[in-house]
Amino acid sequence: MGYKMNKFDPGSSIQDYLVFGEFGDVNPSITDSSTFTFMTPEKMEELFDHEIEGCFLYSRHWNPINKYLSDALARMEDSESAIVTASGMSAISCSILQLCGCGDEVVASRTIYGGTYALFKNFFPKVGIKTTFVNITDLDSVKNAITEKTKVIYAESVSNPLLEVADIPALSKIAKEHNITLIIDNTFSPMIISPIRLGADVVIYSLTKFANGTSDCVAGAVCASSDFIHQLTDINSGATMLLGPVLDSYRAASILKNLHSLHIRMKQHGKNAIYLAEKLEELGMKVFYPGLKSHRQHELFNELMNEGFGYSGMLAVDAGTTEMADKLMAKMQENQFGYLAVSLGFFKTLFSSPGHSTSSEIPKEEQDEMGLSEGLVRISVGLDNDIAQSFERMKKSMIEVGMIEEEVPV
Ligand code: PLP
Repeated sequence: MGYKMNKFDPGSSIQDYLVFGEFGDVNPSITDSSTFTFMTPEKMEELFDHEIEGCFLYSRHWNPINKYLSDALARMEDSESAIVTASGMSAISCSILQLCGCGDEVVASRTIYGGTYALFKNFFPKVGIKTTFVNITDLDSVKNAITEKTKVIYAESVSNPLLEVADIPALSKIAKEHNITLIIDNTFSPMIISPIRLGADVVIYSLTKFANGTSDCVAGAVCASSDFIHQLTDINSGATMLLGPVLDSYRAASILKNLHSLHIRMKQHGKNAIYLAEKLEELGMKVFYPGLKSHRQHELFNELMNEGFGYSGMLAVDAGTTEMADKLMAKMQENQFGYLAVSLGFFKTLFSSPGHSTSSEIPKEEQDEMGLSEGLVRISVGLDNDIAQSFERMKKSMIEVGMIEEEVPV
């Protein structure tokens, strides 16, 4: 290994991104228009021909506030450019459809978000795009799955829900050797991992999650080279322009404000998550968390991560059976440990059972093969001020459902 590269602080990168409103407002104005005026017909014609910096045509193409949020994300990722979209799923589908046509192939990690898995497995074949799913931690299986038709390698930097870590530099090397595009979904680890710097070509975000952090909207982003973002927004052939998943500008404005506290939030999510992961491991539970020494890719994660943002707020714990997982989740909600809900990256703790919700699209035999146990409980650890108290609530729930025994005072 030995990937550790020059230090990068995505938090400071965003901090340095200064934009003002028309009157010097400290938050830029919200674009409240779908269309824009031109001084002359010639200028309008010119814009149809090629993009002109600072000049806007129609909000589905670009608008100022979406551009500000996109630029801030590009800074955070250290990518040349970025574009925000109406959801993480549209960021994924537009990127794939821009790169692949009928007859082309994708090599994808089999431990990806269930919706992405379903998109690749069930939907893309309808337009002639075939996906081969592989164990992304086995680089030989990635190489062996590549054919002459492969256009994309697709993985999550930290996978949903098993928290497997993708060796982005090694995947990038394979992608470059075969002249294919490496797409990394970094939804679980913003700030912590910078995939572009590690060799990815395209970075996807579901901004719905940590990046926004308030679970009040659905949004996505693609960070990549200027060339790729131009391709996506091309008036005649761009997937975001023509399929039209435009992010509402009011939402873009609120996400931009939340993005400025992401560095603090990621630190607190990570601090709370490692506390819970260690305590649960001490109780003898099977815990999946990349910050634990017992995690198979702990060392790799250490090599890839930016310093100072922790190991993310996502952890998974195996409750053994579906029945036990269900009982535990109901009890944890009752004992105010958090909410039984899908999604992640919220300021409150959220938990769900991936085998029966977000990953339910993955066939049972494939779930078994990848170690996705039916009793797995995925926890998105919140920003709790007193995580020791939260752990006590979780432990109380575990005792009440009979998962662990009550300690007998000595
Ligand atoms: N990528 C990951 C890793 C996710 O967890 C999700 C949603 O849960 C998505 C993409 C899809 O994002 P959205 O729900 O914003 O469309």
